[in-house]
Amino acid sequence: MTRTEVLIASAEANSAHNYHPLPVVVATADGAWMTDVEGRRFLDLLAGYSALNFGHRNRRLIDAARAQLERVTLTSRAFHHDRFAEFCARLAELCGMEMVLPMNTGAEAVESAVKAARKWGYTIKGVPDGTAKIVVASDNFHGRTTTIISFSTAPEARADFGPYTPGFEIVPYGDLTAMSQTLTQNTVAVLLEPIQGEAGVLVPPAGYLAGVRELTRERNVLFIADEIQSGLGRTGRTFACEHDGVVPDMYVLGKALGGGVVPVSAVVSSAEVLGVFRPGEHGSTFGGNPLACAVAIEVIAMLRSGEFQARSAELGEHLHRELAVLRDTGRVTQVRGRGLWAGIDIAPAYGTGREVSEKLMDRGVLVKDTHGATIRIAPPLVISKEDLDWGLAQLRTVLGV
Ligand SMILES: *Cc1c(COP(=O)(O)O)cnc(C)c1O
Repeated sequence: MTRTEVLIASAEANSAHNYHPLPVVVATADGAWMTDVEGRRFLDLLAGYSALNFGHRNRRLIDAARAQLERVTLTSRAFHHDRFAEFCARLAELCGMEMVLPMNTGAEAVESAVKAARKWGYTIKGVPDGTAKIVVASDNFHGRTTTIISFSTAPEARADFGPYTPGFEIVPYGDLTAMSQTLTQNTVAVLLEPIQGEAGVLVPPAGYLAGVRELTRERNVLFIADEIQSGLGRTGRTFACEHDGVVPDMYVLGKALGGGVVPVSAVVSSAEVLGVFRPGEHGSTFGGNPLACAVAIEVIAMLRSGEFQARSAELGEHLHRELAVLRDTGRVTQVRGRGLWAGIDIAPAYGTGREVSEKLMDRGVLVKDTHGATIRIAPPLVISKEDLDWGLAQLRTVLGV
């Protein structure tokens, strides 16, 4: 057996089978490239589902982490530490908001947003106790906790994990009329991804997000934008909501906020909303720890320059031009996305998403399939144009163009 086969067999024997990874075992990585245990190089066109927007081991982020490792890494929130205030102030400023609630993973931040919205509903809006409703969209992905999967529409995410948390209503993504009809006096929030990543990079119809913003403002309902995957440069802007001129009441952030180094997530909102929490009502042992803050402060500084957003916009335009050409060959039935982010539906005659992903792997390119026919491309924003073009050339070859 090869070293790859040995390591995969061992992982399969000793870990829960909640993933079906491509058969590659990564040993090292740098920028947009990963090297496996056999010394083969792979271009990373997934970027950890946007957790690696700044590439693997980004120099600035590794330096920031290393400097913090030499000072203090964890205090718990029982005490203050000297990176916390700066992290919260910078992140609030980046978001144009007032307050930050730091957590670790995306799912925890979504849970925190749900709790904040419910408490805001009861204590500020005046919704009768225990009756708060949150409206979500079909085909959503917001994480894996029991409450979050309660409002998933993906059977594999839900089956056998009940009983489910009540208090959520699901409407078709992109349907403003359904949204309008579902909002009641007890609705405290609408929770949406401005672009649905896991669903296959679904971009909502023009005017949808602005319409949701108008409806929620009229009805005194919080608009929560889950920008965990779409935010922090991925679409060519800091936030995907910006493409529609929309400012939500709450951003939920994660993935790239940790710079591909540590898990960092946060809810960012107004003092009215996040001000509802009193000591003891919510928390996290690791949330807002010094190492997380140090890395995230550097992430925020990098985003403030605008260079990563500009790069995503520019290279993204090139990517989507190239993919439109591929679509015209009939190998691909649909391409969606914004910036350096694309969902590509492979025509059935040319293989499933998984088969195309495996063939790309054999040619040194790593992508992830989703929903049978779709592959998703989300390279690190630091990828060179030459590398991106090389990756696209491999895709054309795999599709027989
Ligand atoms: C990844 C993701 C989450 C969950 O984040 P985890 O860190 O995996 O818990 C939530 N929402 C969206 C939109 C995501 O892409």
